[in-house]
Amino acid sequence: MNAMSSLEPKLRIKAATKVYQTGSGDLLALDRCSLDIHAGEIVTVVGPSGSGKTTLLWAMSGLHGLTSGEVVLDGKVIKGPNPQIGMVFQEANLLPWRNVDANIRFPFEIKGEKPDEAWIESLMHRVGLDGFGKKMPRELSGGMQQRVALVRALSFKPSVLLMDEPFGALDAFTREEMNHLVEEIYLDTRTTIVLITHSIEEAIFLGDRIVVMSARPGRIAHLHDVPFPRPRAMDIMSTREVFDLTNTIKREIVGDQQSKARIAQRPAAAATPAN
Ligand code: ADP
Ligand code: MG
Repeated sequence: MNAMSSLEPKLRIKAATKVYQTGSGDLLALDRCSLDIHAGEIVTVVGPSGSGKTTLLWAMSGLHGLTSGEVVLDGKVIKGPNPQIGMVFQEANLLPWRNVDANIRFPFEIKGEKPDEAWIESLMHRVGLDGFGKKMPRELSGGMQQRVALVRALSFKPSVLLMDEPFGALDAFTREEMNHLVEEIYLDTRTTIVLITHSIEEAIFLGDRIVVMSARPGRIAHLHDVPFPRPRAMDIMSTREVFDLTNTIKREIVGDQQSKARIAQRPAAAATPAN
């Protein structure tokens, strides 16, 4: 690695803008979002529903394009799905008629590639799925299914893991377990992670940096550093620092929603954005 490449961010989001064409007209979902994400960083993203978080993540994964702006991975503009990028969604999206082993190998079958069996075995062990390979998805709890989705996403040895509210459907206890698991995997692999969450606590526990998105049109409204060393223990969540940061982020999200709602209540002419 030369000096230039070590300075280059892992992912560079440049003025990312997305307009969806809908039946009732154009909808500006994402408005000139710019952010550099460095290799080996965990960036968590919070913001009100509809603030373009998923839209941004899909652009980062190459699952859809932007109206303007671009996302650059290791110096190359992302133009489509990329094996360097693993994705985990809120739903595990397992094929119900295939067992765990066959679900994990499914993307390899599609691509006609041979999986690294030793790596998959080590991942299964890492996430606590030893002996679960022959189980069908319906036999697994939600948390176990998300562990399978994690293994599937990591099976290609991606250098970036993108997660869209991956634990939003899980109970609080399982969610905490999964947060520890993500950090353990991160400490093992130093994969760059971007994780969207509804939970400010989760954003703080996992993030090196937290992005706060504004209500639609989605913009990057605030950035916070989370300076706790790793591995983190849940104890940090009861510190004054975390209490203050949680309240700051809550105020940022609620304040932004309230001010946008006030604008929306004004007469129609005033509600039209200037740009
Ligand atoms: P978030 O993940 O923050 O909840 P999304 O990125 O899903 O936000 O959506 C941002 C805005 O774009 C929302 O108003 C949503 O309704 C709209 N939107 C998302 N996907 C589409 C689509 N495929 N077509 C039209 N509008 C969409
Ligand atoms: Mg979303």
